Amino acid sequence: MALVVQKYGGTSVSTPERIKNVAKRIVTAKKKGNRLVVVVSAMGDTTDNLIELMKKVNPDPPKRELDLLLSTGEVVSAALLAAALDAMGERSIAFTAYQGGIITDSIHTKARIKRVNTGKILQELDKGKIVVVAGFQGITSENTVTTLGRGGSDTTAVALAAALKADICEIYSDVEGVFTADPRIVPDARKLKKISYDEMLELASLGAKVLHLRAVEVARKFKVPLHIRSSFNEKEGTLIS
Ligand code: ASP
Ligand code: MG
Repeated sequence: MALVVQKYGGTSVSTPERIKNVAKRIVTAKKKGNRLVVVVSAMGDTTDNLIELMKKVNPDPPKRELDLLLSTGEVVSAALLAAALDAMGERSIAFTAYQGGIITDSIHTKARIKRVNTGKILQELDKGKIVVVAGFQGITSENTVTTLGRGGSDTTAVALAAALKADICEIYSDVEGVFTADPRIVPDARKLKKISYDEMLELASLGAKVLHLRAVEVARKFKVPLHIRSSFNEKEGTLIS
């Protein structure tokens, strides 16, 4: 039985219909006999909207409160996805970073994950449940909510995959994989079947928006195999290993 970590980005969960579509894909993966941990981003433009909202009450907001506010976006997605899975007859449980044991340092708005206390997640997996975890957020040893920097849900997924020794970490979004160039600009850009951690690290540091830089660093360090693929079709994406 494989342990699979899946991560769905904001576009993949931007509407109730898309959340239900993601739930269907998760059920299919579960029926193949996998143990599943699913990390979600905030719906669509939620994070941008929350930042704007905060700026309306304080143009220079305290970072602690900004993090607390931003963390709510991913909690909404996690709760809705677990409920969508329930509606499909699957046993599932949604966790915040606090509940999922994702411990970070206390550098607000760009915290780093120090460790994952996997006990609770493993307990729920052992009960046969699909565990849905809110991405992008963490908790300090003083129980303060932090966030991991924009795009940080990728890092949540990879850190969980490393801590749980997952067989694969699948990153689902609206891009089909890693391309030789930006396919929106270069029409004959090719999708790569496979790429190394070092090559991916270089692309990410050059500003390719496919993966959070920190996620690639963690994947390389712990040798977590990554599969970058689309949540809107069944095509194979790009394997990073
Ligand atoms: N919701 C956060 C952001 O928009 C984190 C993420 O999407 O990974 O940056
Ligand atoms: Mg987002």
